[in-house]
Amino acid sequence: MKDIENSMNSQNLIENWQQVSRQMTQACEHSNRQAEDVTLLAVSKTKSADMIATLAQRGQVHFGENYLQEAIEKIETLKEQPECAGVVWHYIGSIQRNKTRDIAEHFDWVQTVERGIIAKRLNDQRPAEMPPLNVLIQVNIDNEASKSGCLPEQLPELITTIKGYERLQLRGLMIIPAKTDTNAFARTQQLFDAIKQSHPKLNGWDTLSMGMSGDMEEAIAKGSTMVRVGSAIFGERN
Ligand SMILES: *Cc1c(COP(=O)(O)O)cnc(C)c1O
Repeated sequence: MKDIENSMNSQNLIENWQQVSRQMTQACEHSNRQAEDVTLLAVSKTKSADMIATLAQRGQVHFGENYLQEAIEKIETLKEQPECAGVVWHYIGSIQRNKTRDIAEHFDWVQTVERGIIAKRLNDQRPAEMPPLNVLIQVNIDNEASKSGCLPEQLPELITTIKGYERLQLRGLMIIPAKTDTNAFARTQQLFDAIKQSHPKLNGWDTLSMGMSGDMEEAIAKGSTMVRVGSAIFGERN
């Protein structure tokens, strides 16, 4: 039996990745932005360590994972491979309270912080020999009851809390907008800029993570600095 992953050989994978990079460059040109101002996060959840290694060899740096057990196995495997030494790992899944230690010990970034108690645990559990953990606050920009993320009105307090934690480096915001919300990107950009202006000492506030396979061009037009792209690179997930 041939599963979806086997049917995608490394040649297809590399072509998809190059195609996504070209689309990003074009989207930047359309909005008069520099290509290097937007980072590609390759979302590799459910995909193999071999596929990650293939792209890392070609120069892809940032990879995003949602499922902790699976992610840790891949991180441990790839640690042994010299061509993956520079890989930067982002946790983009939902965070359960009892999983913060695994995140703090294995990842470089976490994009889905939405509560002070989670931030505190990540700060307390970040190993002393590692650099501070880069943090994005996930915002529930549509005020949807079912969605994760903090509400926009809760942001000031959460920012103040995270700023006080020495083992965390607050970098910006992340959203997963509702499909029906056509101006979520623009509202999030305003929020991101307003926070930057009202906190002039917020060093490192430089990352707005929005846009996925289906809407990355639109997100780049609205100021995204990091697009999280899975299926357009790795193919559909089973
Ligand atoms: C899976 C996932 C993505 C990638 O989605 P695609 O549509 O496959 O590009 C991006 N962000 C988050 C938070 C995800 O969970």
